[in-house]
Amino acid sequence: MNYNKKTVRDVDVAGKKVLLRCDFNVPMAKDGSGVITDDKRIRAALPTIQYLLDQGAAVIACSHMGKPVATFDSWVKKQTEKGKDPATLTEEKWKKSLAELSLKPVAKRLGELLGKEVVMAADVVGEDAKAKAAALKGGEVLLLENTRFEKGETKNDPALAKAMADMAEVYVSDAFGAVHRAHASTAGVAEYLPAVSGFLIQKELDFIGGALANPKRPLVAILGGSKVSSKIGVINNLLEIADTIIIGGGMAYTFSAAQGGKVGNSLLEEDWKAYSLEMIEKAKAKGVKLLLPIDTVCADKFAPDANSQVVTAGQIPDGWEGLDIGPKTVELYCEAVKDAGTVIWNGPMGVFEFPAFAKGTEAVAEALSKTDAITIIGGGDSAAAVQQLGYADKMTHISTGGGASLEFMEGKELPGVACLLDA
Ligand code: ADP
Ligand code: MG
Repeated sequence: MNYNKKTVRDVDVAGKKVLLRCDFNVPMAKDGSGVITDDKRIRAALPTIQYLLDQGAAVIACSHMGKPVATFDSWVKKQTEKGKDPATLTEEKWKKSLAELSLKPVAKRLGELLGKEVVMAADVVGEDAKAKAAALKGGEVLLLENTRFEKGETKNDPALAKAMADMAEVYVSDAFGAVHRAHASTAGVAEYLPAVSGFLIQKELDFIGGALANPKRPLVAILGGSKVSSKIGVINNLLEIADTIIIGGGMAYTFSAAQGGKVGNSLLEEDWKAYSLEMIEKAKAKGVKLLLPIDTVCADKFAPDANSQVVTAGQIPDGWEGLDIGPKTVELYCEAVKDAGTVIWNGPMGVFEFPAFAKGTEAVAEALSKTDAITIIGGGDSAAAVQQLGYADKMTHISTGGGASLEFMEGKELPGVACLLDA
C-alpha cells in the first residue's frame, strides 16, 4: 500500500465546502444524559478543523457514534436475538436507542472548544442536512448526524456516498480509527470528490507507514497481549520486516506449550501451537532474532491480590497461571531494545490492569523511554497501558486507532487510506 498521500495542505480549500470525516465516537455516560466522559477525540480533530477554517473553508464534519441499528425491523431482530421479549420492543424504544447515539452533544462540545457555533444537522443526507450544507459559508462549521443512522453507511452504499459527496467539493479524511472500514463516509465518498488526509491520518501514515516501509534499523517489534490468534497477521507481517521480534503477554504461553513447556492454567490456545512452532522456524530461516520469555511471574488465581511467584519459563506449577514476564526476561528484553533504531510495540507484557502484574509492561515502557529509537505504540490496550503507566509523552507516536493500527501493522490495505489521492 502506498502510504504517501496528499494532505489538506496539497489542495485549495478557500471558499470551498469540505466534507470532513472525523472520529467523534466518544465515550458517553451510560445514563443517556448525553454527557461526554472523555473528549480526547474531539480535541484531536481540532488542528485539522482549525486549519480548514483558517483557509476559509466551510467545514461539513461527519462521524459515526456507537452501533445504532438503522432500521426498526433489524433492531427488533437484534434485540430478539439478545433474548428480549419481542412484545416489549416498540418503535419508541428503538428511536430512543438512536437518540442516545446522536452527535448533538459532540456539536456542543466542539463549539465550546472552537469558540464558535457548530450548526447541528438533524440528519445525514436528508432535507435538513442538505439545506444547512447549502447555506454554509466559509469559516463556518456544520456537523451531520451519526453516519450510521443511514443503513447504507456500513454497506458502503454508493447512493449514500454520492449524496454525502454532493454537499461538498473536497473530502478530507481524518478518522484514523475508522480507516480499516470500507464504509460510505470513510471510503465511498472518495469516488466522487478529490480526497486527501487530515493531520491525524497524515501523522499515523508518517510514523507507522514509515516504520513499516523504511524503518531506521535495527527494527525491534515487541508483541504481547492476550492471544496468538488475534496477532497472527501482525507476527507474520513483522517477521518479514523486523530484525528482532520479542514475544510477551499471554500469547507467550502458547509458544512455551508448543515447545513442550508446562504452562499450568495460563492462557493457552491449543489450536495455535503448531503455528507458533512454524513462526519459530520461519524466524530462524529468515535470520530474525525471536526472543521468548525465560521466566514468568505466575499467580494462584486471576486476581489483583493473587499470591505470586517467579518460575523458569515452561515450569509453571499446576494450578498456577503466568500473568507477567519475569525479571530475567525483563532484563533480556530491555537489553534488546537498547540499541534499536525503531521499536514497534503492540500488546502488553502482562496483565497490566493488576498493578502486581504490570512490572514487565512498565519496565519495557521505561526502557523505550530511554532509547534514542523511534518508538511507536499500536493497539488500544497497549496505548492505554503506556498512558496509565505515565510514559505517553516519552514515546514518538501512540496510534489513535486500535483496530486500524493493528490492520496497518498486519500490512493490510486500509480502505480509508487507499481511497485518498497519492502524493
Ligand atoms: P492491544 O489492544 O494493544 O492490541 P491486546 O488486546 O492484544 O492488546 O491485549 C491486551 C490484554 O492482554 C490486556 O487486557 C492484558 O491484561 C492481557 N494480557 C497480557 N498478558 C496476559 C497474560 N499473561 N494472561 C492473560 N491476559 C494477558
Ligand atoms: Mg485490545
